[in-house]
Amino acid sequence: MAWTPRTAEILRAVAAYQLAQEALAAEFAARWAEALAAVEARELAGSLSELEAEYAAAIRESAAASYGLSVAFYRLVRALETGRVIGGPGYRPGASLGSLWADFNRATGKRTSSGPRERLDEDTRNPFPADAVERQARRVAETFRQQVADRVAARERERPARQGSAALDDPALIAWEREFAESLKTGSSGAGGMLVQDAGRDAVHTALQDDPGAIGYYRATDASPCYFCALMAARGAVYKSKRTAAFGAHPHCHCQAVPIFSRRYQLPDANARFARMWREFGGGSLADWRTHYTTT
Ligand SMILES: [Zn+2]
Repeated sequence: MAWTPRTAEILRAVAAYQLAQEALAAEFAARWAEALAAVEARELAGSLSELEAEYAAAIRESAAASYGLSVAFYRLVRALETGRVIGGPGYRPGASLGSLWADFNRATGKRTSSGPRERLDEDTRNPFPADAVERQARRVAETFRQQVADRVAARERERPARQGSAALDDPALIAWEREFAESLKTGSSGAGGMLVQDAGRDAVHTALQDDPGAIGYYRATDASPCYFCALMAARGAVYKSKRTAAFGAHPHCHCQAVPIFSRRYQLPDANARFARMWREFGGGSLADWRTHYTTT
């Protein structure tokens, strides 16, 4: 008997997945903000190795959760769309929609739905990349250097001239310190949050290339995406090709790749809304679109 894609359930899973990934980035950002707040602005330069260890640990833990969540999401959506379960990390023979929903609910920390216990057909292939701990560690080190270490070093070079003979409680000096601390936090938590979610985004994006059952993906955005992400979402499905372009996330972006396994997929309302805006816009440069998008 032909399988009918469980469209409404898939859309609920997509919404829950996007929010859960966004929450993982927020969880990382909160932990990192706490670590930063514990260090006086003047002490930053002397605390870089402790801060780097904290940054790396916070990203690593949230990234592992992001990866696990993405595998559970991919497997669930695939099963809802095709009636077939796929192998890889956490795969257990005898899976049902019920067990896949339970895995997904556990990964999101929220009960979104449930399903029957009937055993699904199985594809034991593992399309998922191994959890890229090492590659990720290199990206984290590089990001920390750019977003924190280099900026703190530049700041220290500037400090003597800036400080001059001013007292440590000089209001202008305090404002200068505070502004820097804020900008350091914004930059490093945006870049770190991107690394957290990339662990999951890369898992989905790689899996769909290696899964003959997947035909493409679309972009699920957060509640208020930037003009670029809205445009990517407006394009709808991106069908798989030999060289499917990179997903193209950016700091402070909570968009996720949603794999597609059937031509009978349905896009979230937001994607249809962006597509309508794009048609109304009628074409033009990216800068024109930006203006159109932000003023509509
Ligand atoms: Zn985005």
